[in-house]
Order: sequence, then structure tokens, then C-alpha cells
Amino acid sequence: MVEQILLSPPHMSGTEQKYINEAFETNWITTLGSNVTAFEKDLADYDQIKYALTTNSGTAALHLALLALGVQSGDQVFCQSFTFIASANPVNYIGAQLTFIDSEPESWNMSPQALDRALHDAQKKQQLPKAIIVVHLFGQSADMEALINVADSYDVPIIEDAAESLGAQYHGQPSGTYGEIGFHSFNGNKMITTGGGGCMVTDNEEYHERALHLATQAKEARNYYYHTQQGYNYRMSNIAAGIGRGQLQMLDHYVDRCCNIFTTYQTALSRIPGIAFQPELPNSRGTRWLTTLTLRDQDPWVIMKHLQHYKIESRALWKPLHQQPLFKGVPFYAHHTNQDVSGDLFTHGLCLPSGSSMTTNQQQRVIDVLNQCLR
Ligand SMILES: *Cc1c(COP(=O)(O)O)cnc(C)c1O
Repeated sequence: MVEQILLSPPHMSGTEQKYINEAFETNWITTLGSNVTAFEKDLADYDQIKYALTTNSGTAALHLALLALGVQSGDQVFCQSFTFIASANPVNYIGAQLTFIDSEPESWNMSPQALDRALHDAQKKQQLPKAIIVVHLFGQSADMEALINVADSYDVPIIEDAAESLGAQYHGQPSGTYGEIGFHSFNGNKMITTGGGGCMVTDNEEYHERALHLATQAKEARNYYYHTQQGYNYRMSNIAAGIGRGQLQMLDHYVDRCCNIFTTYQTALSRIPGIAFQPELPNSRGTRWLTTLTLRDQDPWVIMKHLQHYKIESRALWKPLHQQPLFKGVPFYAHHTNQDVSGDLFTHGLCLPSGSSMTTNQQQRVIDVLNQCLR
């Protein structure tokens, strides 16, 4: 029996159990509790930021970030098109209007020139967005300096979707801490996991307080239940936070391992004609959460099928949101007026198994199968 090699399975270290046991021993299982407080402090320290608010998903953290910035029904919000659907869904929850922005070839993330064109048009219509959602896909940074320059010239705040990039750095600063607000995900397949969860990070006390209030059913500080606003039940449980505390201690080790896996793939596959790996911007350090690449001389869908036959999980890159039936009719700004970079990446791209727990032998098996079918 050949064992299945998964794309990015959870990787437990053992210390998670200790913190879960603490929660059991104190019978503090529900939301709030010592693990939540400690995990939030650990996250804020790791990100070198003032406030980290843990939530029961990354999607919830983004929803809170939008609400903290005051986004309301009918407002405009710009979002990177090349991403997972969760980057845009909370905009719809609020009833705000989306515009999608293409990627640039240099980072695969938001194109500063497409953003500039979109903001220019929005200003002319007097409909500037309330927020711009920039994503750091697959653990690689967007060009935050260029994007912030553009956004600042129109005075629009940036939310960083750092769901996939916890542990990455940009200009020596932790990923997700450059914009007004950032967020991470601790879903099962991400760099670290709490079994499901997320967190919002910011240096702005007002945004933090507003998000915390909304995440706890907007309960006012009185000795009975009193509400003036619609809230949500978005906090993380003390059990999940216990897993997170153990996981966070392993994060740098996991990042190193994923970067090693990437380098091994790059070395072993570099001679395949038409292959190119996701680039890394100078002055940034990605996590290589997933090793991703494009193939110009082969059909990636055929390769995925072939890998599947050998019980190796691989996946296409994110199908851009401007191509999703759900978002039919939503405006889209391409990198150049007739160069759809994200659409092209989807057509030619592939994600390889990259879990931090993958063994050298397992990776060699992937490389052998790839060399065999791409030769
Ligand atoms: C995983 C992910 C999210 C959402 O996180 P959840 O914790 O699954 O809600 C958002 N954006 C991107 C880019 C993601 O990969």
C-alpha cells in the first residue's frame, strides 16, 4: 500500500496537549480563559504589534476588520482577485460593493498599477473605497511599499489578508502589520492551526476595541445584557487557543522546513522546460507555505491527474474571483488593460505538497513522479 501524500496537513508538536489539559483541569473550555489571553499576547509579541484579537476563523477576523474601519452597506471595497473566496465574502456579508484588482507578475499579489487605475476612476466618480484588501498568497508578500504609496495618495486604508503568510516578513517587519489592520488564519491546512480559528492584528486601539466589542455579541459593559448594536459570536475557544499556543512555538521551525522543501523542489525541477516558481520580492522573506509554480509547456491539469494516480495530492492555484460565477458582473481592473495576470496564473499554475511534516522520502517520491511525467 502506497501512503497518500497530502498538500499541507496539520503538524502537531506535542506541546499543544499540555495547554489543552490545562483548559480541562481548570474546566475552562469555552470562549475566553487563560489560553486565549496568553495566545493573544504570544501573537502580538510574534507580530511585534500592540493588539491581537483571536477569533473562531480568519474569515470572522476579516469581517471584524471591515466593520472596525466603518465599512457599511453600499460602500465600495477593493479586493485582490487572485485569492481564496474568504478574502471577499465578508464584504458581501456587509452588503458593500466589490471591485477586483489583478495581480502583478513580480509577486503574484495585488498590482500597484491596476490599483492606481481603479482608485483614479473611483475618485472621478466620487466613490473611493472604504478599504483595500491586499493578500499575501501562499506565504509570499505583496509589494506593500508600492501599494501603500498608491493607497495613501487617495487616503484609503489597507487591510492585509495575511491568512497564508503568518511567519513571513516584509522589509524586516512581520507580514500583516504594514496596513491599518491585518489578519491570520489558523485553519487546518495553514502554516499553524488551532483546528479552526484566526486573529486580527492592529496597532490602533480604537479598531481593536471596536472589533472586540462586535466579536462578543456587542454586549455593553453593564451588569445585565444590554445591546445598542448588532454583534457576532466570533471569539476563539480556550481549547483552540491552547492548540495555538503550542503551535506558535513551532512556527519558525515550520517556516524553515517549508523553505527547505521549496529549495529542494526548485533544485530538482529547475531543468524542466517552461517551469517557473512563484517569485519572492527583494527585501521580503516568504514562508513558502505551499510551493507553487507555473508550467508553460505542459497542461497542469494532466500533471495533477498523474500525481493523483500515485496518491500525491496537488492542486490548482486559486481561481481568480473575477472569474467566479458568484461575482459575475463585479468590476475588475487587469494589470495592463488587456493582460489578465491572475487568469493566466490560474491556467498554468500548480501547488505541490509542502506540509512542514513531509519527510525527505515523501518529497523524493513527488519529485520522481514529476520528473517522470514532465521529462
Ligand atoms: C484560509 C484563508 C482565509 C480564511 O481563513 P479561515 O480561517 O479559513 O476562515 C482568508 N484568506 C485566504 C487567502 C486564505 O487562504
